[in-house]
Amino acid sequence: MKQVSAVKIGNMQNPDPEKRGKVEVLDVPVKNVGDDEVKIKVAYCSICGSDPHLVDGIFGWAPPFGLGHELSGVIVEVGETAAAHGWKVGDRVGGNFRNYCGKCYYCANGMEQFCENATEDPGMAEYVVWNERQPVKVPDGVSLKNACLIEPVSIAVRVMDKANIKTGQNAAVSGGGPIGLLCLQLASLNGAANLTMFEPNPARRELARKYGAKYVIDPTKEDVEKWADKITDGRGFDVCLEASGAPAAAETLLKISAKCARVVYVAQYPRDYNMPLNLQSQLFMKELEITGVFVSPYAFTRAARIIERLDLDDLTAVVFPIDRATEAFEAHLTGKHPKVLIHCNPGLE
Ligand SMILES: [Zn+2]
Ligand SMILES: [Zn+2]
Repeated sequence: MKQVSAVKIGNMQNPDPEKRGKVEVLDVPVKNVGDDEVKIKVAYCSICGSDPHLVDGIFGWAPPFGLGHELSGVIVEVGETAAAHGWKVGDRVGGNFRNYCGKCYYCANGMEQFCENATEDPGMAEYVVWNERQPVKVPDGVSLKNACLIEPVSIAVRVMDKANIKTGQNAAVSGGGPIGLLCLQLASLNGAANLTMFEPNPARRELARKYGAKYVIDPTKEDVEKWADKITDGRGFDVCLEASGAPAAAETLLKISAKCARVVYVAQYPRDYNMPLNLQSQLFMKELEITGVFVSPYAFTRAARIIERLDLDDLTAVVFPIDRATEAFEAHLTGKHPKVLIHCNPGLE
Protein backbone atom coordinates (compact mmCIF):
# COMPACT_ATOMS: atom_id res chain seq x y z
CA MET A 1 0.00 0.00 0.00
CA LYS A 2 0.95 3.63 -0.37
CA GLN A 3 2.31 5.43 2.69
CA VAL A 4 3.54 9.03 2.87
CA SER A 5 6.96 8.79 4.47
CA ALA A 6 9.88 10.92 5.53
CA VAL A 7 12.72 9.62 3.37
CA LYS A 8 15.38 12.18 4.27
CA ILE A 9 15.83 14.07 7.53
CA GLY A 10 16.26 17.84 7.39
CA ASN A 11 14.45 21.15 7.30
CA MET A 12 11.97 20.89 4.41
CA GLN A 13 12.54 24.55 3.55
CA ASN A 14 16.32 24.50 3.59
CA PRO A 15 17.44 26.49 0.52
CA ASP A 16 20.24 23.94 0.02
CA PRO A 17 18.58 20.96 -1.72
CA GLU A 18 21.35 18.66 -0.42
CA LYS A 19 20.30 19.33 3.17
CA ARG A 20 16.56 19.60 2.61
CA GLY A 21 14.25 17.08 4.31
CA LYS A 22 12.14 15.02 1.93
CA VAL A 23 8.72 13.38 1.91
CA GLU A 24 7.73 10.72 -0.61
CA VAL A 25 5.08 8.07 -1.13
CA LEU A 26 6.53 4.62 -0.46
CA ASP A 27 5.08 1.19 -1.04
CA VAL A 28 4.89 -0.63 2.30
CA PRO A 29 3.18 -3.85 3.42
CA VAL A 30 -0.26 -3.68 5.09
CA LYS A 31 -0.29 -5.09 8.62
CA ASN A 32 -2.31 -8.14 9.58
CA VAL A 33 -5.34 -7.55 11.77
CA GLY A 34 -5.15 -9.05 15.28
CA ASP A 35 -8.09 -10.19 17.42
CA ASP A 36 -8.48 -6.87 19.19
CA GLU A 37 -7.76 -4.74 16.13
CA VAL A 38 -9.55 -3.15 13.18
CA LYS A 39 -8.27 -2.27 9.73
CA ILE A 40 -9.27 1.21 8.57
CA LYS A 41 -9.30 2.28 4.94
CA VAL A 42 -8.12 5.86 5.36
CA ALA A 43 -10.16 8.57 3.67
CA TYR A 44 -8.39 11.76 4.71
CA CYS A 45 -5.32 12.58 6.76
CA SER A 46 -4.52 16.23 7.40
CA ILE A 47 -1.02 17.62 7.72
CA CYS A 48 -0.24 18.77 11.26
CA GLY A 49 2.19 21.57 12.03
CA SER A 50 4.25 18.93 13.81
CA ASP A 51 4.71 16.73 10.71
CA PRO A 52 7.46 18.86 9.10
CA HIS A 53 9.14 18.94 12.55
CA LEU A 54 9.27 15.13 12.48
CA VAL A 55 10.94 15.33 9.05
CA ASP A 56 13.27 17.89 10.64
CA GLY A 57 14.33 15.18 13.04
CA ILE A 58 13.01 16.46 16.41
CA PHE A 59 12.42 12.95 17.70
CA GLY A 60 15.56 11.55 16.13
CA TRP A 61 13.71 8.87 14.15
CA ALA A 62 15.70 7.24 11.36
CA PRO A 63 14.14 7.47 7.88
CA PRO A 64 12.20 6.12 6.20
CA PHE A 65 9.23 6.44 8.55
CA GLY A 66 5.53 7.03 7.89
CA LEU A 67 3.78 10.30 8.77
CA GLY A 68 0.31 11.41 9.76
CA HIS A 69 -1.95 11.23 12.78
CA GLU A 70 -5.07 13.25 11.90
CA LEU A 71 -7.15 10.74 9.99
CA SER A 72 -10.64 9.56 9.19
CA GLY A 73 -11.75 6.45 7.36
CA VAL A 74 -13.97 3.41 7.14
CA ILE A 75 -13.43 0.08 8.89
CA VAL A 76 -12.86 -2.71 6.35
CA GLU A 77 -11.78 -5.59 8.58
CA VAL A 78 -12.52 -6.45 12.21
CA GLY A 79 -10.76 -8.87 14.57
CA GLU A 80 -12.85 -11.30 16.61
CA THR A 81 -12.67 -9.49 19.97
CA ALA A 82 -13.15 -6.09 18.33
CA ALA A 83 -16.28 -7.47 16.62
CA ALA A 84 -17.56 -8.83 19.93
CA HIS A 85 -17.17 -5.30 21.31
CA GLY A 86 -19.36 -3.85 18.56
CA TRP A 87 -17.04 -2.71 15.78
CA LYS A 88 -18.37 -3.45 12.29
CA VAL A 89 -17.15 -3.30 8.70
CA GLY A 90 -18.44 0.00 7.30
CA ASP A 91 -18.16 1.99 10.55
CA ARG A 92 -16.99 5.53 9.80
CA VAL A 93 -14.27 6.49 12.27
CA GLY A 94 -11.64 8.95 13.36
CA GLY A 95 -9.72 8.70 16.59
CA ASN A 96 -6.60 8.40 18.63
CA PHE A 97 -3.49 7.60 16.60
CA ARG A 98 -1.65 6.48 19.73
CA ASN A 99 -2.21 2.98 21.03
CA TYR A 100 -1.72 3.00 24.79
CA CYS A 101 -0.85 -0.26 26.54
CA GLY A 102 -3.34 0.15 29.40
CA LYS A 103 -0.94 -1.68 31.73
CA CYS A 104 2.06 0.50 32.53
CA TYR A 105 2.42 2.83 35.54
CA TYR A 106 1.12 5.87 33.64
CA CYS A 107 -1.80 4.07 32.00
CA ALA A 108 -2.80 2.69 35.41
CA ASN A 109 -2.64 6.15 36.99
CA GLY A 110 -4.75 8.27 34.64
CA MET A 111 -1.83 9.62 32.60
CA GLU A 112 -1.93 7.43 29.52
CA GLN A 113 -0.40 10.28 27.48
CA PHE A 114 2.88 9.20 29.08
CA CYS A 115 2.38 5.49 28.34
CA GLU A 116 5.73 3.75 28.31
CA ASN A 117 4.70 1.35 25.54
CA ALA A 118 2.67 3.57 23.21
CA THR A 119 2.76 2.63 19.53
CA GLU A 120 1.56 4.39 16.38
CA ASP A 121 0.58 3.28 12.88
CA PRO A 122 1.20 6.19 10.48
CA GLY A 123 -2.03 7.68 9.13
CA MET A 124 -1.02 9.12 5.74
CA ALA A 125 -1.45 5.73 4.17
CA GLU A 126 -4.10 3.75 2.35
CA TYR A 127 -4.71 1.65 5.47
CA VAL A 128 -3.99 1.69 9.19
CA VAL A 129 -4.46 -1.10 11.70
CA TRP A 130 -5.64 0.17 15.09
CA ASN A 131 -6.41 -1.39 18.42
CA GLU A 132 -10.16 -1.44 19.06
CA ARG A 133 -9.62 1.18 21.81
CA GLN A 134 -8.43 3.80 19.33
CA PRO A 135 -11.31 4.59 16.94
CA VAL A 136 -14.34 6.70 17.72
CA LYS A 137 -17.42 6.82 15.49
CA VAL A 138 -18.00 9.82 13.25
CA PRO A 139 -21.48 11.34 13.78
CA ASP A 140 -23.85 10.80 10.82
CA GLY A 141 -24.01 14.45 9.80
CA VAL A 142 -20.23 14.90 9.67
CA SER A 143 -18.25 14.22 6.46
CA LEU A 144 -15.12 12.07 6.51
CA LYS A 145 -13.34 15.13 5.17
CA ASN A 146 -14.13 17.11 8.32
CA ALA A 147 -13.79 14.06 10.57
CA CYS A 148 -10.02 13.87 10.06
CA LEU A 149 -10.00 16.88 12.39
CA ILE A 150 -11.26 14.80 15.32
CA GLU A 151 -7.64 14.51 16.47
CA PRO A 152 -6.85 18.27 16.46
CA VAL A 153 -10.30 18.90 17.97
CA SER A 154 -9.39 16.45 20.76
CA ILE A 155 -6.37 18.64 21.53
CA ALA A 156 -8.66 21.67 21.82
CA VAL A 157 -10.99 19.64 24.06
CA ARG A 158 -8.08 18.86 26.34
CA VAL A 159 -7.11 22.55 26.34
CA MET A 160 -10.64 23.37 27.47
CA ASP A 161 -10.33 20.82 30.28
CA LYS A 162 -7.25 22.61 31.51
CA ALA A 163 -8.52 26.15 30.81
CA ASN A 164 -11.64 25.54 32.91
CA ILE A 165 -13.51 28.52 31.46
CA LYS A 166 -16.32 29.83 33.62
CA THR A 167 -19.20 31.39 31.71
CA GLY A 168 -18.53 35.06 31.13
CA GLN A 169 -14.82 34.98 31.82
CA ASN A 170 -12.52 36.94 29.51
CA ALA A 171 -10.47 34.74 27.20
CA ALA A 172 -7.63 35.32 24.75
CA VAL A 173 -6.01 33.03 22.20
CA SER A 174 -2.64 33.77 20.65
CA GLY A 175 -1.97 32.07 17.32
CA GLY A 176 -4.63 31.53 14.66
CA GLY A 177 -3.34 28.24 13.26
CA PRO A 178 -5.69 25.23 13.25
CA ILE A 179 -5.29 24.51 16.97
CA GLY A 180 -5.73 28.17 17.93
CA LEU A 181 -8.83 28.47 15.75
CA LEU A 182 -10.34 25.27 17.18
CA CYS A 183 -9.60 26.46 20.73
CA LEU A 184 -11.28 29.74 19.85
CA GLN A 185 -14.43 27.97 18.66
CA LEU A 186 -14.57 25.77 21.75
CA ALA A 187 -13.88 28.71 24.07
CA SER A 188 -16.81 30.48 22.45
CA LEU A 189 -19.04 27.41 22.97
CA ASN A 190 -17.83 27.27 26.57
CA GLY A 191 -19.14 30.77 27.24
CA ALA A 192 -15.99 32.88 27.07
CA ALA A 193 -16.54 36.65 26.94
CA ASN A 194 -14.57 39.30 25.07
CA LEU A 195 -12.92 36.51 23.10
CA THR A 196 -9.73 37.94 21.62
CA MET A 197 -7.36 36.53 19.00
CA PHE A 198 -3.77 37.74 18.55
CA GLU A 199 -2.55 36.78 15.07
CA PRO A 200 -0.35 38.52 12.51
CA ASN A 201 -1.80 36.80 9.41
CA PRO A 202 -4.83 38.74 8.06
CA ALA A 203 -6.54 35.66 6.56
CA ARG A 204 -6.31 33.86 9.89
CA ARG A 205 -7.63 36.93 11.71
CA GLU A 206 -10.57 36.90 9.30
CA LEU A 207 -11.31 33.27 10.21
CA ALA A 208 -11.00 34.09 13.91
CA ARG A 209 -13.59 36.82 13.47
CA LYS A 210 -15.87 34.37 11.67
CA TYR A 211 -15.43 31.78 14.45
CA GLY A 212 -16.52 34.09 17.24
CA ALA A 213 -13.63 36.39 18.19
CA LYS A 214 -14.89 39.79 19.30
CA TYR A 215 -11.44 41.36 18.94
CA VAL A 216 -8.78 40.33 16.42
CA ILE A 217 -5.43 42.00 16.92
CA ASP A 218 -2.20 41.96 14.94
CA PRO A 219 0.49 41.66 17.64
CA THR A 220 3.19 42.84 15.22
CA LYS A 221 1.41 46.17 14.67
CA GLU A 222 -0.62 46.82 17.81
CA ASP A 223 0.29 47.15 21.48
CA VAL A 224 -1.09 43.89 22.89
CA GLU A 225 -0.84 44.96 26.54
CA LYS A 226 -2.71 48.20 25.88
CA TRP A 227 -5.45 46.35 24.04
CA ALA A 228 -5.71 43.78 26.81
CA ASP A 229 -6.15 46.57 29.38
CA LYS A 230 -8.82 48.21 27.26
CA ILE A 231 -10.74 44.98 26.66
CA THR A 232 -10.61 43.73 30.26
CA ASP A 233 -10.86 47.03 32.21
CA GLY A 234 -7.24 46.67 33.21
CA ARG A 235 -7.77 43.28 34.89
CA GLY A 236 -6.33 40.97 32.25
CA PHE A 237 -7.73 37.82 30.68
CA ASP A 238 -9.01 35.04 32.95
CA VAL A 239 -8.04 32.45 30.36
CA CYS A 240 -5.01 32.76 28.06
CA LEU A 241 -4.33 30.11 25.43
CA GLU A 242 -0.99 30.11 23.62
CA ALA A 243 -1.10 28.25 20.31
CA SER A 244 1.45 30.13 18.21
CA GLY A 245 4.70 28.60 19.41
CA ALA A 246 6.32 32.04 19.32
CA PRO A 247 8.44 32.87 22.39
CA ALA A 248 7.36 36.55 22.27
CA ALA A 249 3.70 35.52 22.46
CA ALA A 250 4.44 33.03 25.23
CA GLU A 251 5.84 35.82 27.44
CA THR A 252 3.19 38.37 26.55
CA LEU A 253 0.40 36.08 27.72
CA LEU A 254 1.80 36.14 31.26
CA LYS A 255 1.65 39.92 31.23
CA ILE A 256 -1.96 40.11 30.06
CA SER A 257 -3.27 37.39 32.36
CA ALA A 258 -5.69 38.26 35.17
CA LYS A 259 -5.42 37.28 38.83
CA CYS A 260 -6.13 33.55 39.18
CA ALA A 261 -5.92 33.16 35.38
CA ARG A 262 -5.23 29.87 33.67
CA VAL A 263 -2.48 30.08 31.03
CA VAL A 264 -2.31 27.06 28.75
CA TYR A 265 0.58 26.42 26.34
CA VAL A 266 -0.42 24.16 23.48
CA ALA A 267 2.35 24.65 20.91
CA GLN A 268 5.89 23.43 20.46
CA TYR A 269 8.64 25.92 21.31
CA PRO A 270 12.31 26.17 20.45
CA ARG A 271 14.00 23.55 22.62
CA ASP A 272 16.59 25.96 24.00
CA TYR A 273 14.06 28.67 24.86
CA ASN A 274 13.49 29.45 28.57
CA MET A 275 10.59 31.75 29.33
CA PRO A 276 11.14 34.44 31.96
CA LEU A 277 8.57 34.21 34.75
CA ASN A 278 8.52 36.52 37.74
CA LEU A 279 7.67 34.27 40.67
CA GLN A 280 6.78 37.17 42.96
CA SER A 281 4.67 39.47 40.79
CA GLN A 282 3.33 36.97 38.26
CA LEU A 283 2.97 33.63 39.99
CA PHE A 284 2.72 34.37 43.71
CA MET A 285 0.82 37.65 43.74
CA LYS A 286 -1.50 36.69 40.88
CA GLU A 287 -1.98 33.02 41.76
CA LEU A 288 -1.54 32.10 38.11
CA GLU A 289 -2.09 28.55 36.93
CA ILE A 290 0.33 27.74 34.12
CA THR A 291 0.06 24.45 32.27
CA GLY A 292 0.76 22.72 28.97
CA VAL A 293 -0.94 20.24 26.68
CA PHE A 294 1.14 17.59 24.96
CA VAL A 295 -1.40 15.13 23.57
CA SER A 296 -5.07 14.52 24.28
CA PRO A 297 -5.86 11.51 26.46
CA TYR A 298 -9.51 10.88 27.37
CA ALA A 299 -10.73 13.50 24.90
CA PHE A 300 -11.60 11.63 21.70
CA THR A 301 -15.16 10.57 22.50
CA ARG A 302 -15.99 14.15 23.40
CA ALA A 303 -14.15 15.48 20.32
CA ALA A 304 -16.28 13.23 18.09
CA ARG A 305 -19.46 14.43 19.83
CA ILE A 306 -18.71 18.15 19.65
CA ILE A 307 -17.32 18.12 16.10
CA GLU A 308 -20.74 18.63 14.49
CA ARG A 309 -21.08 21.94 16.33
CA LEU A 310 -17.82 23.29 14.92
CA ASP A 311 -17.29 25.22 11.71
CA LEU A 312 -14.61 23.20 9.93
CA ASP A 313 -15.15 23.70 6.20
CA ASP A 314 -12.48 26.42 5.86
CA LEU A 315 -9.96 24.12 7.51
CA THR A 316 -10.63 21.22 5.16
CA ALA A 317 -10.90 23.07 1.85
CA VAL A 318 -7.45 22.25 0.43
CA VAL A 319 -7.03 18.59 -0.56
CA PHE A 320 -4.32 16.71 -2.46
CA PRO A 321 -4.54 13.06 -3.58
CA ILE A 322 -1.99 10.80 -1.90
CA ASP A 323 0.12 10.55 -5.08
CA ARG A 324 0.74 14.30 -4.77
CA ALA A 325 1.71 14.20 -1.08
CA THR A 326 5.05 15.93 -1.71
CA GLU A 327 3.15 18.88 -3.23
CA ALA A 328 0.72 18.81 -0.32
CA PHE A 329 3.61 19.35 2.10
CA GLU A 330 4.94 22.19 -0.07
CA ALA A 331 1.48 23.79 0.01
CA HIS A 332 1.34 23.36 3.79
CA LEU A 333 4.72 25.02 4.22
CA THR A 334 3.69 28.14 2.28
CA GLY A 335 1.52 28.97 5.33
CA LYS A 336 -1.18 30.20 2.95
CA HIS A 337 -3.76 27.56 3.83
CA PRO A 338 -5.33 27.07 7.25
CA LYS A 339 -4.82 23.34 6.75
CA VAL A 340 -3.89 20.88 3.98
CA LEU A 341 -5.48 17.44 3.65
CA ILE A 342 -4.25 14.31 1.92
CA HIS A 343 -6.90 12.14 0.30
CA CYS A 344 -5.46 8.70 1.02
CA ASN A 345 -8.02 6.73 -0.97
CA PRO A 346 -9.35 9.09 -3.65
CA GLY A 347 -12.97 8.12 -4.23
CA LEU A 348 -13.63 7.32 -0.56
CA GLU A 349 -15.78 10.18 0.71
ZN1 LIG B 1 -1.16 17.09 15.28
ZN1 LIG C 1 0.88 2.29 29.06
